[in-house]
Amino acid sequence: MSERDSVQVAVDVPLAGTFSYLTESPVMSGMRVCVPFGPRRLCGVVVTPIPGEGVPDCDSAKLKRIEMVLDGLPPLPEEFLALVRFAADYYHHPLGQTLFTALPTTLREPRDIKRPDRRPFALTAQGLAEPPPARQKARLALWQALLDGPLTLEAAKAHTPQAGKWLADWLAEGKTERVALEPPALQLGESPALNDEQQAALDALRRSEGFQPWLLHGITGSGKTEVYLRLIADSLAARRQVLVLVPEINLTPQLIDRFARRFPASRIVVQHSHLADGERLQGWLDAWHGEADVVIGTRLSVFTPLPRLGLIVVDEEHDGSFKQQDGLRYHARDLAVWRARRAGIAIVLGSATPSLETVANVEAGRYQKLALSRRAHGAARLPDVRLVDTRRKKLVEGLGEPVLEALKTRLARKEMSLVFINRRGFAPVVACTACGWTSGCPHCSAKLVVHLMERKLRCHHCGWEEPVPPACPDCGDPDIKPLGEGTQRLESALQRMLPEARVLRIDRDTTSRKDAWDEIYRKVNGGEVDILVGTQMLAKGHDFGTLSLVAVLGADGGLYSADFRASERLFSQLMQVAGRAGRAESPGEVLVQTQWPDHPLYQALVAHDFDGYAASLLNERRQAGFPPGVFQALLRADSPQLAQATVFLREARQALEPLAEGVLISGPAPALMARLAQRERAQLVLESPQRAALHRLLDVLPPLLDGLAKTHGRALRWSLDVDPQDW
Ligand code: ADP
Ligand code: ZN
Ligand code: ZN
Repeated sequence: MSERDSVQVAVDVPLAGTFSYLTESPVMSGMRVCVPFGPRRLCGVVVTPIPGEGVPDCDSAKLKRIEMVLDGLPPLPEEFLALVRFAADYYHHPLGQTLFTALPTTLREPRDIKRPDRRPFALTAQGLAEPPPARQKARLALWQALLDGPLTLEAAKAHTPQAGKWLADWLAEGKTERVALEPPALQLGESPALNDEQQAALDALRRSEGFQPWLLHGITGSGKTEVYLRLIADSLAARRQVLVLVPEINLTPQLIDRFARRFPASRIVVQHSHLADGERLQGWLDAWHGEADVVIGTRLSVFTPLPRLGLIVVDEEHDGSFKQQDGLRYHARDLAVWRARRAGIAIVLGSATPSLETVANVEAGRYQKLALSRRAHGAARLPDVRLVDTRRKKLVEGLGEPVLEALKTRLARKEMSLVFINRRGFAPVVACTACGWTSGCPHCSAKLVVHLMERKLRCHHCGWEEPVPPACPDCGDPDIKPLGEGTQRLESALQRMLPEARVLRIDRDTTSRKDAWDEIYRKVNGGEVDILVGTQMLAKGHDFGTLSLVAVLGADGGLYSADFRASERLFSQLMQVAGRAGRAESPGEVLVQTQWPDHPLYQALVAHDFDGYAASLLNERRQAGFPPGVFQALLRADSPQLAQATVFLREARQALEPLAEGVLISGPAPALMARLAQRERAQLVLESPQRAALHRLLDVLPPLLDGLAKTHGRALRWSLDVDPQDW
C-alpha cells in the first residue's frame, strides 16, 4: 500500500489529532467525507495533518476506508481551513472539534449537500462558431440572446420555456460554460452628510493600506455606524465582501434594515445561532461562493468563508458575547483580527467603551485610534451625571429620596425614565461602610469573596480562605457587609411607591421569547411606558428614543469584586447606560446611588472621561499583574465532588510545574460559580507576561491531562480557557 492512498481526516470527537483512512478515489484537502468511526458513521473533513499533533498508528492493515466522498460541494476553501487551524492551535482545542464548531450544523452531518448553481451561462468559442440551424427558431433566438452576454437560468427561461434543457445540452457539448456571478452594481440609499469628525475618521480609514486594525472610539450616538456604512460602500464598490460582527443583542431587525436600506441592491446575509439550519446554511454557502456581499452576524459568523473579503467591522468590540464560553472558547474579535492580518485588509473595531485589551494595543502602536467625541445629531450635549451619596441617607428598599423625587418629576412631565440595576450578585466582596475597607487576599491581588453560609472569605485566584471578620480590620467598625446588597426587591418596591407609573421590566426572563424585543420597542415607542427597569441587558446598544432620566442602583457591587474585570465592565456599562439619556432634543440626567462618591470610577463618569479612567485601570492591572499586563489561561475541572476536581488539579499542577518555565501557576481554587448543574468546579490559573511562554506550556498540556484524567474515571471533566473573560 502506497502512502498516497491514506489520508488524514478530522472528525468531531473530543480527541486530539486527525485519523488515517484509506481512499480509493483521489481526495483533496477540504473535502467532506463519510467515514466509519467505531460503531458510528461520521462526517469528516480531509485535512493536511498538523505536524506534531499525533497521528494515531498507521498500520495500514487496520485502516478503514472512507465510505463516501461528499462532493456535492467543492472542497472547503483554504482560507477557512487556515483559520480553523489557527483557532485549534491557539485555543488548544482538538482540530476536529474546532473545525466542526466552525461549520453550520447541516454540514456537520454525514450526508451530501448540493447547492443550486446560480452562475450564468455564456457561449464558449465553440458555441459561438456553431449557431443552431435557422429553422430552429427558438433555439436560434436563445443563442442570439447569449451573444449579448451571459444569461442566468431564470433570464434564459424568460426567453424560452425550454431554455433549461437546451442550455444543459450545450453545456455537455462544450458550447456553453458557467461564468462567475458578478456582484450587483452598487446602489446607495439615502445617507446624512457626515460631520467633521466622521469625515476625518472616514478619510483616515480610506487611506488605510494592507492589514491595519483601527479603533473607532466614538461616544454613544456619535455616528460610528454611519462611518462603517460609508467604508462598507467603498468595499462594495470595489466588489469586495464585508464581514460585520455585532454582539448578540445588537443584531436587531432595525440594524439589518438599516443595512438593507443603505445597500438596496447588495446581497446581505445574516448569520447567528438562532437561524433555522437551512437558512444558516444557505447564507453560509452564498458567502463562500462569493454570492453574498455583506455578512452581518454574531460571533460564529467570524468563520464564514469569504473569498473576496475586503473589510471587517467589529461593532461594540468590548462586548462579552464575542467570547464563546463553552466548547471551543474562542474570541471572535481576536480571530477577526487574525483573519484581517492573513487577508491583508483593514479591520475596524468600534466602541464607546473599548476593552482594555484594545486600549493597550492602541498604546503599543499596534492599533490606530480614531475618535468621535460628539453626538451626531439632536442635542449634542452629554447628560449631566450626578452622584447620590447614600452613606447617611435612609433608603427604602434600596431606593433613596433623590432618585424617587427625580422619578416623580419625570412621571409628572410624562417623560420616560430608566432604572438600571447592576446585578452581579453571585460573588460579593465584603466592605466597610465607615472607612471603605474591602476584603483583599493577603497572598495575591484578587479580592476575597464572601460565602455567607460558611462564614468564610475565599480567594478564587489562589485558593486562600479565612473566616469573615467580626468587624472592620482597619477601623473596627462592626458595620461590614457584602457590597451590592439590596437590589433584589427593587422592582416591586418601585411599583408600590409609584403606583400610577407604568413599569416595564427588561431582563433575561422577559426577553427570552423570540419577538420580545419587537414588543418592547412597540410599547416604548408607543408611549406606553413610564419607567423601564432592567439589568445588564439595558446597557447595550438599544435606542429607546428619549430617556430624560437614568437612575443607576447597586453599582457599588462592581467597584470591588473578585473578578478583576468587574470595574472595567461596570464603567463601560455605566457609560453606555448614561449614553441612553437625552439622545434627542433634551439633555438627559443620570443619577448614580453610591456609598463611594469619591471613587475614581464615578469621578470619571461625571467628567465623561473614558480615556483617563481607562489609563488608570490599565495601570492598576499592570501593577497587579492582571491582563492585559499578563496572558492567562484557566484550567478548569469539574466533577460531582469538589474534592475530585481539586485533587485532579493538584496533580495537574505538580505535573506542569517542572515544565512551566516563565509561567506562574496558582490554585487550585473553587471557581467563582463553584456549583453549576450538579457539578462542582475548580480551576488553576496559568499566567505569564510572555504569551509565547504560556503557549509553550499549553502545547504540552492536553495529552498530559488526558492521561491524568483517565486515572480519575469518567466523572471528571477538564477544559482549557485561553484568554478567559469570565471566572
Ligand atoms: P453610533 O453607531 O455611534 O451609535 P449611529 O451611526 O447609529 O451612531 O448614529 C446615531 C444616530 O445619528 C442615527 O440615528 C444616525 O442616523 C444619526 N446620524 C449619524 N451620523 C449623522 C450625521 N452626520 N448627520 C445626521 N445624523 C447622523
Ligand atoms: Zn472600616
Ligand atoms: Zn489570593
